[in-house]
Amino acid sequence: MPNPIVVIGAGQAAASFISRHVALGNRHPVLLIGDEPVPPYQRPPLSKKYMSGETGLERLFIRPAGWYAEQNVVTRFHTRVTHIKRDRQQIETESGDRFDYHKLILCTGSSPRQLNADIGGALSGVFTLRNIADAEAIATEFRPGRKLLIVGGGYIGLEAAAVARKFGLEVSLLEITERILQRVAAPQTSDFFRLLHQKNGVEIHESTRLLRLNQTDRRVSSAELDNGETLPVDLVLVGIGSIPRADLAERAGLDCDQGILVNNTCQTSDPDIYAAGDCTRFMRNGQYITLESVQNASDQGDLIARLLNGEETSYNPQPWFWSDQYDCKLQIAGLSTGYTRTVLRPGAKPEGQSVWYYAQEQLLAVDAMNDPLAYAMARKIISKGLHPNPHQIADLDFDLKSVIQ
Ligand code: NAP
Repeated sequence: MPNPIVVIGAGQAAASFISRHVALGNRHPVLLIGDEPVPPYQRPPLSKKYMSGETGLERLFIRPAGWYAEQNVVTRFHTRVTHIKRDRQQIETESGDRFDYHKLILCTGSSPRQLNADIGGALSGVFTLRNIADAEAIATEFRPGRKLLIVGGGYIGLEAAAVARKFGLEVSLLEITERILQRVAAPQTSDFFRLLHQKNGVEIHESTRLLRLNQTDRRVSSAELDNGETLPVDLVLVGIGSIPRADLAERAGLDCDQGILVNNTCQTSDPDIYAAGDCTRFMRNGQYITLESVQNASDQGDLIARLLNGEETSYNPQPWFWSDQYDCKLQIAGLSTGYTRTVLRPGAKPEGQSVWYYAQEQLLAVDAMNDPLAYAMARKIISKGLHPNPHQIADLDFDLKSVIQ
């Protein structure tokens, strides 16, 4: 029996690798090791329909729990890998079990940035949101009338704010930079979501820093802000970014720099070790980037399975994202990093619009709010490398289909 392909980390990237490996009929044995007690599941619903109770646990699973054994994939959940011994092509788990590998695939994901304990980050009632256990712990705290403080105006914070308002909590949100979504979106998109949340009763404080969380009986009870305000709070959700989990790779001496460095075939600095998903950093347009998205994890996992099956291929990411907040669907095609101007295109419906990001005349990305047609066309336009005239884009009467034809 040959040594298995060992996959460490049982998330979206791992599930995608295994699905393609099986679909290609590759009979090489696979061992999947994950530190959570459950098989790979979808994370996006955690801050949306899972937290709100609209989706149950079974529906989160990417494949039913029994599917892996049916495909001859050996699984070890609730198991943490502590060492990679590259000279022996072997890994070791926390309990001392050792497994030899033929190829190793690191799908270790990322972990949420924590608020420092010296400003109250470790108090009871302070949460981050990354896994099922986090979402369940937060959901039990969502009761009408309670005061929730959200620290961070990224997608985690905004999506959780929308769920919390649905449950009747009083929600305040702090963003340290001058506008929510500043890291990922243009001012027009931030303005759209600020207004949406304010209309739904969320109090948004931008350019505001949390000085400290105070406690009563070790449980968070108020928050001091740098504008002099003190807010009474019952619970706090921290969504201030995430950190690629590269510690295992670093200890094994693989090249890492704020993530595991991989080439355009997802190979690390060791040719027998690949990496996929949030834990990776790869070169795009001359810069190393991390892409924390389902698309990236799925596509990288899929690519590695094809490579190990003998296909000659390389990664050319076509990024897309989405976010659901209240009744609004945000869909994003492309990556806006490096944009120099934006164009606002009105939507066919009054509550819809799209923001088109250009670097000079080159189209980079599109944020479509309640405008699925603009999103669908933008994905096609970007994937074909087309650059429609910005003046035409701003005109609702201009037919986007004509760009492709
Ligand atoms: P994020 O997108 O990095 O947003 C966090 C925001 O909080 C940033 O604007 C950050 O500003 C700000 N911040 C940092 N420290 C703060 C502080 N002490 N007080 C107040 N604000 C502070 O991170 P996230 O929302 O936690 O999400 C984590 C990752 O999951 C991201 O990559 C996100 O894109 C991904 N995610 C995606 C989706 C989706 O695609 N729908 C949904 C959920 C999560 P700085 O930039 O200056 O640090």
